[in-house]
Amino acid sequence: MKRQVRALVIGGGVVGCSVLYHLARLGWRDVALLERRELTAGSSWHAAGAFHALNSDPAMSRLQAYTVALYPELEKLSGQDVGLHYPGGLNVAATKERWDLLRADVARHRTMGLETRLVGPAEIRELCPIMDTTGVLGAIYDPMEGHLDPSGATHAFARAARHLGAEIQRHTRVTSLTPTGRGTWEVGTEHGSIEAEHVVNAAGLWAREVGRMAGVELPLVPMEHHYLITEDLAELRGAARELPVVVDLDGEMYMRQERQGVLLGVYETPATPWAVNGTPWEYGDNELLPPDLERLTGALEKGFTRFPTLHAAGIRRIVNGPFTFTPDGNPLVGPVPGVPNYWAACGVMAGFCQGGGVGLALATWMVHGEPEGDVFALDVARFGAYATRAYTLARAREFYTRRFRIAYPNEYWPAGRPAKTSALHTRLLARNAVHGVSYGLEYPLYFAPRGAKAEEEPTLRRSSAFAAVGTECRTARQSGAVMDACSYSRYEFSGPAAAQFLDRLLAARLPQAGRARLTPMLARSGRLMGDLTTLRLGPERFLVVGSGYLQAWHLRWFHAHLPASGVTVRNLSDEWGGLALFGPRSRELLAHLTRDDVSAAALPFMGVRLLDVAFAPAVVARISFTGELGFEIHAPQVCLGAIYDRLMAQAGELGMVDAGMYALLSLRIEKGFGIWSREFSRDYTPRESGLARFVAYDKPDFIGRDAALRDRDTPPARRLVLLEVDALDAEANYLEPIWAGAERVGFVTSAAYGHSSGRSFAMGYVASADAAAGTALEVTIVGERRPCRVLGEAAVDPSGSRMRSG
Ligand SMILES: Cc1cc2nc3c(=O)[nH]c(=O)nc-3n(C[C@H](O)[C@H](O)[C@H](O)COP(=O)(O)OP(=O)(O)OC[C@H]3O[C@@H](n4cnc5c(N)ncnc54)[C@H](O)[C@@H]3O)c2cc1C
Repeated sequence: MKRQVRALVIGGGVVGCSVLYHLARLGWRDVALLERRELTAGSSWHAAGAFHALNSDPAMSRLQAYTVALYPELEKLSGQDVGLHYPGGLNVAATKERWDLLRADVARHRTMGLETRLVGPAEIRELCPIMDTTGVLGAIYDPMEGHLDPSGATHAFARAARHLGAEIQRHTRVTSLTPTGRGTWEVGTEHGSIEAEHVVNAAGLWAREVGRMAGVELPLVPMEHHYLITEDLAELRGAARELPVVVDLDGEMYMRQERQGVLLGVYETPATPWAVNGTPWEYGDNELLPPDLERLTGALEKGFTRFPTLHAAGIRRIVNGPFTFTPDGNPLVGPVPGVPNYWAACGVMAGFCQGGGVGLALATWMVHGEPEGDVFALDVARFGAYATRAYTLARAREFYTRRFRIAYPNEYWPAGRPAKTSALHTRLLARNAVHGVSYGLEYPLYFAPRGAKAEEEPTLRRSSAFAAVGTECRTARQSGAVMDACSYSRYEFSGPAAAQFLDRLLAARLPQAGRARLTPMLARSGRLMGDLTTLRLGPERFLVVGSGYLQAWHLRWFHAHLPASGVTVRNLSDEWGGLALFGPRSRELLAHLTRDDVSAAALPFMGVRLLDVAFAPAVVARISFTGELGFEIHAPQVCLGAIYDRLMAQAGELGMVDAGMYALLSLRIEKGFGIWSREFSRDYTPRESGLARFVAYDKPDFIGRDAALRDRDTPPARRLVLLEVDALDAEANYLEPIWAGAERVGFVTSAAYGHSSGRSFAMGYVASADAAAGTALEVTIVGERRPCRVLGEAAVDPSGSRMRSG
């Protein structure tokens, strides 16, 4: 065994072996993997081995599609039989809501590049003759679903990695991780130590323990999971074709053929967490947990109803094994914030659907310095300190329990809430606010009418919030509204080198002192890395504002580029909060709270001032995301209650109201303003997204400049457009396809009803040839095509006079 390696992977499950293989494939041959027992000794050996590419998140779906397509090639490369079966898969709907959702999903699959189709009960029976389709409305058929031998797949990755020069040592447990002070790790093992430049935590069930070795608490917890395998069924003996993998979504179970019998797996409720405080090192020499059939009774009965032949079938084997879950069910991948050269590849709930893609994503990141495209959905930095063990347990338990439940786009699940609240939370609740949650923080979505229940019904269509949001929007444009801007992140940069640092970090020109500017940030690939707003408070002091849920992600990036001295960065996001005032009377409202001059001369559009607001020392910027005259007040959380009370004491007289995020999203779409994770992300470039106008291409140096210049000089194949949609009772949803006749030419990034203009809008990327103003297109909304048109300018106040003047 080598004593020095470039990268050391800890854990020989499917994920660790895939990471090792991909590192070697991308050119890092000086790599090794340590496994405490035999390969597959964690969750991998007892998996049901089913795989599919379907996932509601496009990044996860992309990664799963890559994994599924990799297996045949892997078999060839390694010479290892993977036991591949591709019988296809059915995702079955037995309720009207589910059927609606599947129809919407199948349209979104076009955008994701998945070749799925809808099938009716007759075809379902043909594909799966043992299924009783009573009550079934239809299913999604996916030809790429199948199953494999989990041990074969893990060994195939391992063998393919070895062929490329990677080393694997079994029966060698990593016992400690110590930074050497030279930027490397001393990896203590049962058989001596190894120096590694990079360490990858792919320790599966023990990932928490391997995290703690480096001082980090990773948000994951194992859950027990059961499946059973039946004796041979008469119906399957000599059958011409194999049964498809069936997920009965409303029955909350999955089934696939196993030789001449079937494997039936259930997400039993309540979920049973396992080894909550830590996984014992002794666990796992092909060890299973005792089955608990009583817990399964309800779920199995549903299974026997759907597949009646199973009633009488003998049970050959019952498996109860643990595997890990994170608070949102997605893996934890990437550089762990605050721990240089320590990488995560853990929390992988579906290693045989996702392992290949996780390996590729992480290896690309390590070898090339950044991942390909937007991988935020699996980035370990999507969680912050709020994701404690208690939070993780509550959320993972909920995720397991709701594994197959419908997740509506306007739905916020209850577990782990409230974890964080703004200073205004109880005041807003008293005013009937309905809250959503982001990065653990409660933020107002809208205000239900007094006396009405403060609860929004989950739906794919217009919700019970529609009328109330309409009132907020129209009032905002007529007089004005006040919003708790708690879901923003706020970073202070200061010091003699702060300007120089930000000038390199941000692709835009820095604002002068007393001014604000939209300052996109780029990755080295020239793709978007942030849509930050920079407020310059003085020559050496800046307040940079972004989306709250990106905090750990942004800070990791800032720290990766921070010089050794001369710049201090402080994350003020928890300590500070804010209020957004927007609408024609917002200046009058602000004037009530300060003796300072807030006239247009003193505080022009994009101006910034330090003002006394109520009794608070506040940063006030004349910025608005709504297209109206507007102000953002940033102040310490402890002062916000007093500011809010003073504002609301005056707001009524001015005809102003409380508003929430839904109103903001409606008002901004009328203006064609994009938001992060939808219109803007690592998938897009400045030119495609329209952010090029904020990039200072003539600056001599900024991160991503070379690629940005190439992007500037290359006509983009697609462009972000604003569309007016002839919608009926639903707005378009994320990733629903956009059509020019029979040709799919783009996809929706976000949509909202424009309450102040009385029209439905969507934003999305379409082929440049179809991006001209006035182009007539169609968009699929919940399975139905609706006409839409490309707008050449904002739907409200295209000249921007309301926002800029006054
Ligand atoms: C009952 C059941 C059914 C499942 N069915 C499916 C399915 O159908 N499809 C699917 O995609 N997924 C399925 N899964 C999930 C799948 O098994 C996991 O997602 C996958 O195995 C995770 O792989 P991993 O490599 O991350 O972790 P693990 O398999 O747990 O591997 C981690 C490895 O790290 C080693 N290790 C830990 N600590 C150290 C250390 N300090 N030093 C050295 N080595 C160490 C361990 O010994 C272990 O071998 C199922 C899981 C269960 C329990």
